[in-house]
Parts: sequence; structure tokens; C-alpha cells
Amino acid sequence: MQTQLLYLEDSYQKSMDAQILEVIPESEGKYRVLLDKTVFYAMGGGQPTDQGVLSTVSWTGEVYQVMIKDGELWHYVTSLSSPTVGDSVQGTINWDRRYKNMRLHTAGHIIDFAMYLLGYTPTQLTPLKGDHGKKPYIVYQGVVLEDIQPKIQAKVDELIAQNLAFSWEFIPYNQLQKEAIYLQPNLPTNKPLRALRLETAGTVADGGTQLHSTAEVGKILVGSVEVEGETTVIKYSLPQ
Ligand SMILES: [Zn+2]
Repeated sequence: MQTQLLYLEDSYQKSMDAQILEVIPESEGKYRVLLDKTVFYAMGGGQPTDQGVLSTVSWTGEVYQVMIKDGELWHYVTSLSSPTVGDSVQGTINWDRRYKNMRLHTAGHIIDFAMYLLGYTPTQLTPLKGDHGKKPYIVYQGVVLEDIQPKIQAKVDELIAQNLAFSWEFIPYNQLQKEAIYLQPNLPTNKPLRALRLETAGTVADGGTQLHSTAEVGKILVGSVEVEGETTVIKYSLPQ
């Protein structure tokens, strides 16, 4: 990948100066743009895409979607004209949208750490995936034969009251393997991976944007815990 992903280092950076490396016309008034660095989060890992604005001295484009395609991160923009390769560009994300997505994403991880601390994962239940968009949920492979919702809510409340810090760092696969409470299948083993740590709780592999602490998320409402076939689906929301 030619683009330096600034959001992996600092989730709170709202804008950047970059250089345009490549431009591909998509259709009338639509282009995709490759940059040398970016603060724009590409949709993935259950977190929705960032949106915002790219502008040079003589050109402006609205970023409506950011996606990783063929190993590169592309900014999909609408504009009256094409930007120019080699130009310097300033990018600014829609921060309200990002912050909302970040809170939902971190909230999902707090529930996931609660599941681990309660002893449900990784043996009884195996984390499968999460979606942190409009109707957020987390899915686990496996089923627990009791109503675990009240216990999860209590543990999540406790983690938030403790105001625990999140931190992250790129480490080699074998180090992460030793440290993580579980590892997703199909992680690349030949490059440093981003370890997400929650103070006193544990470590997971993660490439999304994160808040600094559990308390910053505010209240998390753990909704229904539903059994769907051989899986357990936990729905959640943020009340304010
Ligand atoms: Zn994540």
C-alpha cells in the first residue's frame, strides 16, 4: 500500500496535507484518488467509511466513500473536474460522523472485552464479526444456555466506571499471538499488526479508530442477546 494510514496512529487527527499519487475517472463527475497519506478511514472491520473534503489551490472534491481496493486505499470523490496528479492536497474529514462511528466501534470492543472478562470468550464463544454502523451488533460462534444480557451490561458499566485507557502499537505477529486474548483467522503473519490494549483487560488485533478511554464512550446499552442458529448476536446502542 502506497498510502500512510494516519488514522491508525492517531484516531483524533481530523485533517492532513498530502500529495496526489494517482487519479482514476470513475464516471461523469466522479473520480477515485490515491494519496501518499490520509486521515480518511476506509470502510471495513465493521466501521463505516469516513466522508469529507479534499482540496488543492485550484480544485475541490467531496469524499463520499473511502475503500481499499486491490491493496490501495482510494478516496471516491465527486467534483466538477479532475484533480491533478502531483498536486498538494488538504483533506478534512467530517468529524461528527467519524466521532460517532469511533464511539460505536470502541463500544463494541468494550462489550467484547467484557465477554472475555466474564469468561464467555474465547472458549465457550468465539468472536466472529461486528458491525458498528446504524444497527450495531457483535456475533459470536457458539451458544450459552442462560440469559447473559444482565451480566454483560453490569460488566460493561463497570469497565466504563473504571475509566480504563485504550492504547495501540504495531507489533510482530508472534508477539501479538502471545499477548492477544484471541486472534482472528487469516491475519497476515509477515507484517507488523496493530495491537489494541485495554488497560488491565487484555489485547486484541484491531485496525479501526478508537477512543482514548472507556469513560469517553459514555453509557452503552447492551440490548438483546439472541441465539441465531449456532451463533450468539449481541445488539447494542449508545443512548445519547
Ligand atoms: Zn475493531
